Amino acid sequence: MHEYSIIQSLLDRAEGVATEHGATGIHRLKVRIGELSGVEIPLLASAFEVFRKGSLCSAADLEIEAVPARWVCPRCGRTFHRGEFLRCGECGVPARLEEGDEIILARVEMEVPDV
Ligand SMILES: [Zn+2]
Repeated sequence: MHEYSIIQSLLDRAEGVATEHGATGIHRLKVRIGELSGVEIPLLASAFEVFRKGSLCSAADLEIEAVPARWVCPRCGRTFHRGEFLRCGECGVPARLEEGDEIILARVEMEVPDV
């Protein structure tokens, strides 16, 4: 399943960050998932339940922020949303996708032992 490989790579990155900081565990992960990314958020959450076991994230909360798709006109900066005609009526140019297709590890909160 698509979501399994995504959560695996998010966990790998989170563990990489935690290891760099000498952390012993991860409290909380925040990810941003664009609505055009093709990721099913409930599937991602259940994949996390499977993959967290035995990782530094075994006790972590997963926070998933769904990011709505947003387009802008590259000339005038007007914003367009899903379902709108994606061409600027003022400038006559196609709107450009600004956000909504991302899969981002936004934040890793971890436990770092006092030195
Ligand atoms: Zn425009």
